[in-house]
Amino acid sequence: MTDFKSEVIAAGGEGIAACYQCGTCSGGCPTVSAMDFTPRQIIRMVNLGMRDRVLSSKTIWLCASCYQCQVRCPREVKITEVMAALKSMAMKEGYNSSIAKPRAASFYRNFNEIVANLGRQFEPLLLLKTTLGSRESITSKLGYLLKNAPFGITLMKKGKLPFKPEKISGSEEVRKIFENVAKMEAGE
Ligand code: SF4
Ligand code: SF4
Repeated sequence: MTDFKSEVIAAGGEGIAACYQCGTCSGGCPTVSAMDFTPRQIIRMVNLGMRDRVLSSKTIWLCASCYQCQVRCPREVKITEVMAALKSMAMKEGYNSSIAKPRAASFYRNFNEIVANLGRQFEPLLLLKTTLGSRESITSKLGYLLKNAPFGITLMKKGKLPFKPEKISGSEEVRKIFENVAKMEAGE
């Protein structure tokens, strides 16, 4: 067993050794057309210990965590958990997601941070923080924000986006959950 494979299993990717490459996971994946490697290929690459190729792939950032693959897998491979574990590993190990997906790592970091603080998401802030926190050039960042501004304004006018952030009543409990998960990840 390779170190990489063991790490993925320890991070929640149980059952990957049972994969017999049937491709059912790839066949039902809603985002497979945009991926550089299909879910089936990612599982195979993890089993082969191809750490760099896997952690620098677009696929791990494009997984929408829909669980379609996982519920269909005849070998009960925890594919969605594998994808989540790979994202986490890529972020911790500093894999340059700006090459694979320019704003991916920034999106995940800021998504969690906002939910941890408010107990819910506040999309305008998420867009702003994600874009400004990405590794793109300032020109690209401004271009992306300007391109998305009309869409955001339309959503706000229709009442689909809030104008200001609001905390939920149980936000303190949510924050504690995030703190406990961080402690568990740190092995405390
Ligand atoms: S559906 Fe399961 S067994 Fe089939 S390729 Fe995907 S992970 Fe492997
Ligand atoms: S959980 Fe991810 S890999 Fe699996 S089908 Fe959904 S998007 Fe595709």
